[in-house]
Amino acid sequence: MFADLLVKPVRPKNIEVDMQLLQEKRGRWTLKPKSPSDCPLCREGSTHLPDHPGQEIVPWSKRKSRRGRPKTVNSSGHACLNPRCHYFAVADQETHALVSNGKRGKQKIQYWKCQACGSCRTSRYGTPLYWLKTPIKTVAMVLTALSEGVDLSACQRIFGHSHSTISYWLSRAGAHSERLHKRLLHQAVDAGHLQLDELVTKVKRDEERIWIWTAITAQSKLILSFHIGRRSSEDAHHLLHQVWQRLKPDCLPIFTTDGLNQYFYGITAHFGNWWKPPRARKYHWKPDPRLLYAQLRKRRWGRKVSFLYSIVQLGERAALKARLVALGFTGTVQTAFVERANLTLRELIAPLSRRTWSIAYDRSHLAFHLHWGLAYYHFCRPHMSLRKHIRGPSRYRHRTPAMAAKLVRYRWQVQDSLQLPVPDGIQLAPHPATCGCR
Ligand SMILES: [Zn+2]
Ligand SMILES: [Zn+2]
Repeated sequence: MFADLLVKPVRPKNIEVDMQLLQEKRGRWTLKPKSPSDCPLCREGSTHLPDHPGQEIVPWSKRKSRRGRPKTVNSSGHACLNPRCHYFAVADQETHALVSNGKRGKQKIQYWKCQACGSCRTSRYGTPLYWLKTPIKTVAMVLTALSEGVDLSACQRIFGHSHSTISYWLSRAGAHSERLHKRLLHQAVDAGHLQLDELVTKVKRDEERIWIWTAITAQSKLILSFHIGRRSSEDAHHLLHQVWQRLKPDCLPIFTTDGLNQYFYGITAHFGNWWKPPRARKYHWKPDPRLLYAQLRKRRWGRKVSFLYSIVQLGERAALKARLVALGFTGTVQTAFVERANLTLRELIAPLSRRTWSIAYDRSHLAFHLHWGLAYYHFCRPHMSLRKHIRGPSRYRHRTPAMAAKLVRYRWQVQDSLQLPVPDGIQLAPHPATCGCR
C-alpha cells in the first residue's frame, strides 16, 4: 500500500492516515476492545489501596487536660503506629497525640511519644534509615550517586562501602520510594495528555530481553507508572491499571503511543463503564465514548526511520487535534516526550544504559533501582523544561515534575525523601510537604 511512500525521504514526515481507508485497503478487522475481566489486577479486585480510617476523630487537644507545658516540637507527618490506638496513622499534628520524647544517640534521632496510648517510637520508623548506624548524610550521598547514573561497583570504589551494604541501602530506598509513590500519587494526578512507550533492557538472571513500560504526563513530565515485563497484553493491562489508579476519578486524558496494539486493549479495559442492554442478562463493558487515542507508527529503512504515519484508534482526529491545541501543543500526534523521558531514565539509572556491563542481577534489583531513580527524578531533580521565569538575579525558578503536577510544594533534598515516614501497609494523611490537595 505504501509502495509510493517507501522512497527514502530526507527527513521522516508524519503522515496522517485515515483509519477507515487503511482498513478498507488492508481488509483487516478492527481491534476488539477489552474489559476489566481481561485485566489480571482487576480480576484480583486490587482496585484500591486500603482506605484511611473514616471514623470521626476528636482532636487530642480537646480531650486532654488544659494544664501542662504547651507543645513546641512540630510532629506533622509522623503518626502513632499502634493499631489499637485511637490516633493510629493520623499524621495531622493538630489532631494526633504525639509529643517529643527527646533526641537520642550520636546522631540526635528524634523520638515521639503518643500521649493517648503511651507508646514511644523513633521518628525513623517507616523510613529506609530505621536501624541504620551510618549517618544520613553518607547514605544520601551514596543514593544520590546511584540515581545520577553511577554504577553500584563504582559507588563501592568511590565511597568505600561494601557492595552488599550499598545494595541493601538501595533495596530499602527502592521499597520506600514505591510506598511513597503509592501514597502521593493515588488518585491524585490530573493529566491532559499521556504518552506511553516501552524500553528494552537485560538482567543477568534472565536470558531473554525484558521490557520496561512507562507512562508520562506530557505537561508535568511525571512518570505516572512503570511496569517490568515482556511485551504481552497482560503487561499492558498492568501498566494501564496503575495509570487508572493514579489518575483523578474524573480525569480522561488523550493517549498517544507507538504502533503496539496491546495499548489499545489496556486503555479500553480500564476507561469505560458497565451497562446492561435492554432484555440482556449480563452487564456489558462499554469503553468511554469520549476516549481519544492515537498511534504513531514508524516504518524503517534498515536502522533508520524512513517515514512515520499516525492513526486515530479511538475518537475523531479533529477532536483530538482541538484538545491537543487547547492544552498548548501543536496538535501533531507524537511520542517525543516519553522517548525523551526514557533517555533520561537510561542516563540516571546505570543498569538501563546501552551496551553496559553494569546490568542488574535480577528483576527485583532492577525494580528497586527504578523506584529509587523515579523518586529522585520526581522530587529532587529539577527539570529544565519545567523552569519558570521570575524577576530577580536568579532569573528562573527550578521545578521538579512533582511540583509541576501539584503533588508537592517545593523541591526536596534527598534527605527529605529518606526521612519521610511511609510505613508498610498504612495509608497516612497528607504530609506537610505535599499540597494537601488530596
Ligand atoms: Zn485492571
Ligand atoms: Zn497512640
